[in-house]
Amino acid sequence: MEEQFIPKKNEQISLEICDLGEEGFGIGKYHGYTLFIKDTIPGDFVEALILKGKKTYGYAKVLRILKPSPDRVQSLCPLASKCGGCQLQHLSYEKQLEYKWNKVKNCLKHIGGIPEPPIEEIIGAEEPYYYRNKAQFPVGRGKNGELLIGFYAGRTHTIMNTEHCYLQAKINTELIKRIRNFLEREKISIYEEATGKGLIRHIMTRIGFRTGEVMVCLIINGEYLPHKEKLIEELKKAEKENPNYHIKSICCNINQERTNVILGEKVISIYGEPYITDYIGEVKFRISPLSFYQVNPVQTEKLYKKVLEFAQLNRNEIVWDLYCGIGTISLFLARQAKMVYGVEVVAQAIEDAKKNAELNEITNAQFFVGEAETIFPEKYQQSNGEMRADVVVIDPPRKGCDETVLNTIAKMEVERVVYVSCDPATLARDIKLMRQMGYEMIKGAVVDMFGETYHVETVVGLQRRDM
Ligand code: SAH
Repeated sequence: MEEQFIPKKNEQISLEICDLGEEGFGIGKYHGYTLFIKDTIPGDFVEALILKGKKTYGYAKVLRILKPSPDRVQSLCPLASKCGGCQLQHLSYEKQLEYKWNKVKNCLKHIGGIPEPPIEEIIGAEEPYYYRNKAQFPVGRGKNGELLIGFYAGRTHTIMNTEHCYLQAKINTELIKRIRNFLEREKISIYEEATGKGLIRHIMTRIGFRTGEVMVCLIINGEYLPHKEKLIEELKKAEKENPNYHIKSICCNINQERTNVILGEKVISIYGEPYITDYIGEVKFRISPLSFYQVNPVQTEKLYKKVLEFAQLNRNEIVWDLYCGIGTISLFLARQAKMVYGVEVVAQAIEDAKKNAELNEITNAQFFVGEAETIFPEKYQQSNGEMRADVVVIDPPRKGCDETVLNTIAKMEVERVVYVSCDPATLARDIKLMRQMGYEMIKGAVVDMFGETYHVETVVGLQRRDM
């Protein structure tokens, strides 16, 4: 075998970028050796510095773009290359979509074993910026004691002061400015990771995109917030200047642990209600500081419409929604189904799901706490087949589905399966298994829920083959 060329650390080289890798890094070849280079895109010709090299691949840092790719655009955010939040701002949105669509197609082809995966055109966002309804800003002090509110620089705990984030709802800029005024004027102490002392750790905001309701939650290392009436006063000013928004909830979350986990368990309300309300489609949701809720509500609705379309419901079906979270998909489907059963491992999420069913007067949805791989086969057996699913929706975390879930689907002879996934590689792996169990991929859709980042969301419709 030919000896693999390995460049030396700190060597300066120039090369062309030919591909975009997993996490949005550009990929170039140097004498046949693969290099991953952050902040580069296919078509760029760059000068780069070798950072570290392994046997078959290495990492380099871009020093200079000698010739930019025709797909390169100017990043809007001056912090884009430092911040951990965005990876693809320098790539035109059209090409971001193409990259995501190809990523899904290639996974289904190479891992899933489907030569020509039937995937529809990608559903892009009308607004690939300002789409997030939830923000968590770490708070700290800089070297000279200045107050920092912003985001962590990629893979570190260094806070970059961020006055304006291009992914968050625009109102955040105003809210953060007001909170900053409050913290400075009232000389509120700021949490210090190194010593565990100081009060303010994080600021969380949640915005109802359809209702305009705003929640501000300060995460504090203590039992109460001094001068809270001043904070309320400041935030009411933000409301006055932004008449489309309404400050519905101000609260504190107490976290006195020395941990990287942002939220503690206890919430105290200091103004308004302890929740905000928002809608996905016609379904209403109550969102409290601790509840999970999709972060891009506009694209989520498009995603769920695809789920509904692929599920082909006729009001006669029993549907199981596995990995259901707070029951968003279950409730979205309920009006078109005879019965929906949701399963989720987080007990608090199931509490929310039940409350949301009540809030919407949906009576044909039932929720269970536990692992999908345990509850789903167990309930089926115990009910003597009465709870047999006609349609199963699965929306697992990144690692994909447990095989028991897939086996149960096959054993039940479920007609249709709709698989929602945030990781096309594990999706493709599971689809390969399902194909071996007698299912065929009928349709696929890719929805861009996270513009400017490398994340991609896929829905696949599968049908049981006639046997
Ligand atoms: N379908 C929901 C949430 C999907 S996120 C929505 O659209 O909003 C994936 C969910 O799977 C998370 O809520 C996570 O808590 C849950 N989960 C993880 N492992 C699980 C398991 N083994 N069984 C059931 N739920 C699980």
